[in-house]
Amino acid sequence: MRVCVVGSGGREHVLAHVLGRTAEVVVTPGSPGIPGSVDTPPGETDADLFVVGPEAPLVAGLADELRAAGRLVFGPGADGAHLEGSKAWMKEVASAAGVPTARYAAFDRFEPALEFLNSLPGPWVVKTDGLAAGKGVLVAPTRADAEADLRAKLAGESFGDAGRTVVIEEAMIGPELSLLVVCDGRRAVPLAPAQDFKRIGDGDTGPNTGGMGAYSPVPGVGADMVDDVMERFIFPTLAELRRRGIDYRGVLYAGLMLTEDGPRLVEYNVRFGDPEAQVVLPRLTTDLAELLAAAAAGDLTQAPPPAFDPGACVTVVLACEGYPTAPRTGDVIDGIAAAEAAGAMVFSAGVALGPDDDGALVTAGGRVLAVTGSGPTVAAARDHAYCAVDLISWPGRHYRTDIAREAARG
Ligand code: AMP
Repeated sequence: MRVCVVGSGGREHVLAHVLGRTAEVVVTPGSPGIPGSVDTPPGETDADLFVVGPEAPLVAGLADELRAAGRLVFGPGADGAHLEGSKAWMKEVASAAGVPTARYAAFDRFEPALEFLNSLPGPWVVKTDGLAAGKGVLVAPTRADAEADLRAKLAGESFGDAGRTVVIEEAMIGPELSLLVVCDGRRAVPLAPAQDFKRIGDGDTGPNTGGMGAYSPVPGVGADMVDDVMERFIFPTLAELRRRGIDYRGVLYAGLMLTEDGPRLVEYNVRFGDPEAQVVLPRLTTDLAELLAAAAAGDLTQAPPPAFDPGACVTVVLACEGYPTAPRTGDVIDGIAAAEAAGAMVFSAGVALGPDDDGALVTAGGRVLAVTGSGPTVAAARDHAYCAVDLISWPGRHYRTDIAREAARG
């Protein structure tokens, strides 16, 4: 099978890597760090299966365009991708499906938004309705911070049009869990659960980012919890989408908070998590190309259910100085080959070719590399990942030192 992965980041790199076990893979537009990258646009690329990685082209309707041209596509159409394109719509669908989630309301005017904010006990959660690369959420410890953030978002000052409508939510408390589910429109099968780290700094401090690290499996999260989430969250959501005429073929990513009262939905995303994909997909022991092709064709029963190696993976994201506010780019990256020689997987998230003709890679995005270590336990995988991280350098490189630390203690 020939598979075309659409995208250029760490998620697309790991997709290409794992699909490449059984399929011929091209990646468009890819990057100088991703083998198999081609510069033909997806519509002009010849492939048996198209896997659209990031949310932006899905929201913009790329899967619809490719399907209209007769292609087999893994990824929802613009109708289903609206789950991620509008948090207000996502909350409305989740509520209609009876999915447990935080109390919320959506606003495009300041006064009623402030009134709702004042009715909540805090901490206060203010989200951009539209896409903001994972950075549009503020969990504010004080009401004054929440009010200032609300004002900036509604005025379009902090996130442009994405923030002109906001969702204000009751805060939930507890550890988070990411469950990525492969859907064929009617049926759905879960992948292994993962936990990711969204804040920029150690100890979950600082602003939210696209994700600074992840690990899988998650100690204490077994098959019974996954079954429960499938029954009470995923299947009702797919049924609600179908009721609205939406044939959802792609990944449904449930971001969950494990509260004292049980799991609650934080958000749905419409694509593989980045960096969750970098810890979940390498553990897959079944054929990813076959699974995604079956889902894309609308019949998951054509592929064996996904199975996973019992060992662990830990990913540490290396970011530029200044990320997420003002990333500094253009620095030469050293040590990728050494990290790979140490057995780690190094996925390129934001890299470019340097100005000299020597093939050297330079930093070109906020998140630059995702380094995945593996081992029989989370502790072993964590050691493996951080040893590899130590081999990679550039000026101002930033990473968290506490990825999977608690989980590694068992
Ligand atoms: P989202 O983009 O909606 O997943 O939000 C990004 C992050 O903000 C989540 O992973 C949580 O850490 C945090 N967050 C979002 N909504 C809430 C909430 N209602 N209560 C507490 N934290 C939240």
